[in-house]
This record gives sequence, C-alpha cells and structure tokens, in this order.
Amino acid sequence: MKSRMESTMKALVYKGPGKKPWERVPSPKIQHPTDVIVRVETTTICGTDLHILKGDVAAVQKGRILGHEGVGVVIEVGSAVAALAVGDKVIISCIKSCGRCSFCKQGLFGHCLGDEGASGIGWVFGHLIDGTQAEYVRVPYADNSLYKLPATVTNQQGVLLSDILPTGFEIGVQYGQTKPGDVVAVIGAGPVGLAVVMTAGLHGASKIISIDLDPHRLEEARKFGATDTVRSGEAGWKAKVMALTDGWGVDVAVEAVGLPATFEMAMQIVRPGGHVANVGVHGKPVELPLQDLWIRNITISMGLVNANTTPMLLKLVAEGKLQVDKFVSHHFKMDEMLAAYDTFARAAETRALKVIIDR
Ligand code: NAD
Ligand code: ZN
Repeated sequence: MKSRMESTMKALVYKGPGKKPWERVPSPKIQHPTDVIVRVETTTICGTDLHILKGDVAAVQKGRILGHEGVGVVIEVGSAVAALAVGDKVIISCIKSCGRCSFCKQGLFGHCLGDEGASGIGWVFGHLIDGTQAEYVRVPYADNSLYKLPATVTNQQGVLLSDILPTGFEIGVQYGQTKPGDVVAVIGAGPVGLAVVMTAGLHGASKIISIDLDPHRLEEARKFGATDTVRSGEAGWKAKVMALTDGWGVDVAVEAVGLPATFEMAMQIVRPGGHVANVGVHGKPVELPLQDLWIRNITISMGLVNANTTPMLLKLVAEGKLQVDKFVSHHFKMDEMLAAYDTFARAAETRALKVIIDR
C-alpha cells in the first residue's frame, strides 16, 4: 500500500473564467478510509469543462483541478477499501457512489448522498473535488466509483465509458423509453448525441435520425449508426423529419444540445404518445407549451447521468459490439494539455470530437 508518488504533480487548474494553467500542485492524499489514489494514464475533455471555463458552473471554485473522465492505475488504497488493490487498472466514473444511501440503492448514483463536496450530487470530480486532468487523483467511495478495466479494453475505450456512453444511453435511450421498432431522432451530433445514436440500436430503434447544423458532424453520425441525417437551420428540416416517419413524427426525440431552440425542435417532431428525452444541460429557462402538448400525450424526461449502466456498456465494448474508438479525433500527451483544450474548444474548425490525453 505504499505509493511512490512524488509530493507534487502537474494538473489543469481552474483559476476563474478563461484561466486554466497546467501547473505544479500538491499531489492528492487519502482523506477517508474508503478512498484510493489513482495514477491517471488517460483523460479527456468534456463540453462541460468548457462550460466551467466560461464561468457557467458557479459551484466550481478557483483552484479546482478540472476533469471527470479518466483511466488509470490504483497506487494507494484506504484501509476500508475491499474490492480494489494496488495495481488494478480502473475506469474512473464521472459519478461517485457511496453504494449505501437510499439513492445509490435505487441506482440513482447521480444523487448519491455520500458526503463528499456536497451531499446529494454524484458528479463531484472537477466540480466539487479535484478531478482527473492531473497526474494523480483521489477517488472517494472507490469500491463503487471505479470499474476494473479488462485487459481486452484499451485506455482510450475505457475513458469513453467515464461519461459520454452512459450519458447518451441512460438519459437519451433509456429515459426516452425507446422500444423495438421506434423511430428515434437525436438533435445534436456532438459526442453525447453521437453516443445516443450509437446506443439507440441496443433498444431496437428501426430508424435513427441525426439532426445538426454542422454537415461534418452529420457525416460522422452515419458512422455511428444514423440511418438518416437532417441539417437543421435550413427551411424544411421539420418536413424532412416528418417524411422519414409515417407523417406523425418520431417516437423518441432526444435533445442533446442544451438550448431553448433545440428543445423546441424536439417538441415539434415528437408524435402523439411519444417521448422527448432531454439530455442537454440548459443555462436558460425553456418555454413549455403545455396547452399544445397535453392533448398529444407527450412524456418529457431529463436527468443527470447515473452511470449505473457502465458495467453493461463495458461488456459490449469488450466484445466489440460498441466500437467506441470512432469517438476519438485527436491524441495529445499530458504536457500538451493546453493544446488539447485549444483543439477541443475550436471543434467546428478542428473537427474535434473526443481528444484523448495520455500520460
Ligand atoms: P457539443 O457542444 O459537442 O455538441 C452539441 C452539438 O449541437 C454540436 O454538434 C452543434 O453543432 C449542435 N447544435 C447546436 N445548435 C444546434 C441547432 N440549433 N440544431 C441542431 N444542432 C445544433 O456537446 P456534447 O459534449 O455532445 O454535449 C451535449 C449536451 O449534453 C451538452 O449540453 C452537455 O452539457 C450535455 N451533457 C449532459 C449530461 C447529463 O448528465 N444530462 C452529461 C454530459 C453532457
Ligand atoms: Zn450514495
């Protein structure tokens, strides 16, 4: 249980809106008996990190190490850790879970009451406690918050299971109550929308329509399993979607952008009795036209990912049933962290999807 970690390490530190040096900071230490320390081997950047850097996520304090996705090796374990040992290769889930509270027992890990950062929110890394864009990270409730990486799954594949795959599947496909034969439309073809496209087939979608403004992303969507693509922002986009159904709209409309306009688009294309599954994180109120929706028997869902489907998704990745390497557009080394951010932030020009950052 001895660590050979140095007393300091390099990490991406949030210093307020727009300020994020890659700098030397103290290495993490075990704080609770249920903690482990992971030597991060692979991490990546999420759209949410960009939101934080704009100052949109007020709970993130200056000095916080960002990042909530990662794969690494356990180098130190707390005295109460039972299921993990030094040397284990693990996926760090974006959601921590104490495994004991009433929400965890329901599988609602997103609302874990374990007291870490703030009680009642499972997303703590790079938000309420230091995150994974660092050489080392402390993981609370490690027995339940880490997943062992099988030898057949690469670091790159594993890191895509930290957040985007479970988010797309749980909040898009499952909450949308996708059934065999359903026509599913996914608005937004970023990494999260493409994760919905990739996993909608697991519930038997007959057609998967990807909708985005960016023609390059629509081209990508085909590789992820979209049967049809529609460019929004052009007149007639709605008619094109309707023509791909029996004329009454889609069974499941997934919003994977996070804007009032795109939520409205989802409500416009859903059929009577259908589901609108909102995945996007919204920063502004959205108008809800109940006066039109009630008589169409529409169900609307939304949520923070629980990452309770990670073990199932991991099996599919291990067996090659989900080919997640397609998400990766760029590779960087950890000491190129700022270049990785720059590439990811200019996705429309650089065609970035997921940027993989290795030690
Ligand atoms: P992204 O910014 O990479 O992708 C968004 C896509 O939406 C882009 O391809 C963009 O071209 C497209 N878009 C923008 N305006 C559009 C319009 N009017 N019509 C059609 N397409 C439009 O984002 P991402 O990383 O894929 O994440 C998507 C959303 O999911 C974000 O809001 C993110 O914060 C959210 N998210 C939610 C959870 C959760 O737990 N619910 C978890 C992770 C991410
Ligand atoms: Zn819990």
